[in-house]
Amino acid sequence: MFDVAEAQRIVLDKVRPLPTTKLPLREALYRTLAAPICTDLDDPPFDRAVMDGYAVRSADVGSVPVNLKVVGQVAAGSLYKRRVGTGEAVQINTGAPMPDGADAVVRVEATQADAAHRVLIRESASAGQFVTRRGAYARAGQEILRPGDRLTPVHIGVAATTGAAQVTVYRQPRVAILTTGDELVDIDRRPTAAQIRNSNQYLLEALVRAAHTEPMLLGTAGDDRAKLSARIGEGLEGDVLCITGGVSAGAFDFVPDILKAHGACFHVHKMAIKPGRPTIFATTPAGKLIFALPGNPVSAFIGFELLVRPALAGLEGREAIPRPLRARLAGTLPAVAGRRSFFPARIAIADSGEYDVHTLSWHGSGDSLGMTGANAIIERAPNSPAARDGDLVSVYLLDRDG
Ligand code: AMP
Ligand code: MG
Repeated sequence: MFDVAEAQRIVLDKVRPLPTTKLPLREALYRTLAAPICTDLDDPPFDRAVMDGYAVRSADVGSVPVNLKVVGQVAAGSLYKRRVGTGEAVQINTGAPMPDGADAVVRVEATQADAAHRVLIRESASAGQFVTRRGAYARAGQEILRPGDRLTPVHIGVAATTGAAQVTVYRQPRVAILTTGDELVDIDRRPTAAQIRNSNQYLLEALVRAAHTEPMLLGTAGDDRAKLSARIGEGLEGDVLCITGGVSAGAFDFVPDILKAHGACFHVHKMAIKPGRPTIFATTPAGKLIFALPGNPVSAFIGFELLVRPALAGLEGREAIPRPLRARLAGTLPAVAGRRSFFPARIAIADSGEYDVHTLSWHGSGDSLGMTGANAIIERAPNSPAARDGDLVSVYLLDRDG
C-alpha cells in the first residue's frame, strides 16, 4: 500500500509536459506559460507624475510660498516639448510624462492659481516628489512571468502591460471520464430498486472543467467486459483516463484486468488512505496516464484531489502538489487507525478573524450528500488520537484556481 506523498512522487515521475502552443492573450486565462514573458519597455516607460498639480524645479520651491510662472500644460498621453526653466511651472495631470527640467510635482491642493499664467505654490517639494522614475518598477528585458506560471486574471493584466499579445502555453490536457457499474442510471432517470444515479460522471466532469482542462465524456460501461474494453480503448486517445468503480476485489471488478490487457503498467495499486484505498495509477507504453478510482463518490473525489489534479498540473508544466495549511478545528474527529484519513470539511472565517475548519455531518465514503458545503478536506495522519474542538488540524483547500 502506498502513502500519499509516495504515490504523488510516482505519478509526477511519469508525467511529461504536453507540447506547447501559441494563443492570443485573451484566450489564455488559466493556461500555463511554457515560455517566459519579459517586458519590452521600462515600466513606467517615462518619468511619470503621480498627482494632479504642477511640475516644478524643486530648487525653486525650497522656501514657500513662492509664485511661479505657468508656461504650459501636460496631460496624460501628451508631451511638454520645451524645458522648464527657473521660476517656471507646468500644469500636469496624473500619468503624464514629466517635462524636461522639472523634477517634482506639487499637488494641486497645495497651490492656488493666481493672476493669469501665475501660480502660488504653498508646499515645498524635494526632488522626485510625486514622480515615479522611468524603470522604477521594471527594466526593459526583465523576466516578469516564468514558465510554469498559470495565467490568473492578475497575470493576464501583467502580461498585457508587457505587450504580450501572444503567449506560449502548454496544450490543455484532455481527460477521458469513464464510469462503471451495472447499478448506474443517468441523472434524468429515476433509479429503480437496486439502481443509483451516476453522480461520479458529473462530479468528475466538473472537477476536470474546474481544473481548466478538457473533459472527454465516455459515459458508463456498466460491468460489461467487452464494453469496458472498448471504452478504455477510446479513453486512451486522450492524455489522461479517469475511471471510477470496478477497481476493488468484487466479482465484477474487471477494470484492473482490462487495463492490463490494454498494456497498462501499474505503478500505484492500493493506497494507505481512507477513504480511497483501491486507487490505481497506471501508464500505457504510449505514456497515457490512467487513474482508476473507487466508485464511492467521496473516495473518487479524494483520489482526484490527491493524484489526478497534481498530474494535470504536471502535464501543463506546473508543480502543484497540494500543501495543507493549519486551521483550528470547530467540532470533533474520531481517532484514526493505520490509514491516513480524510474528512470533507468547511473552512470559515471566525469572529476572531482567524480561519476555523468545521466538520460536516458526513458518514463515510458513500455519503456524497454529506460533502455538501465542503470547501476543504481535513487530513489526519495514521494513528492520530481523536481531535477536539480548538485543536490545530491540517487542511487542504478546495476550489482554488491559481
Ligand atoms: P465499486 O468501486 O464499483 O465497488 O463501487 C463502490 C460504491 O460506489 C458502490 O456503492 C457503487 O454503487 C458506488 N458507485 C460506483 N460508481 C458510481 C458512480 N458513477 N456514481 C455514484 N456512485 C457510484
Ligand atoms: Mg462497481
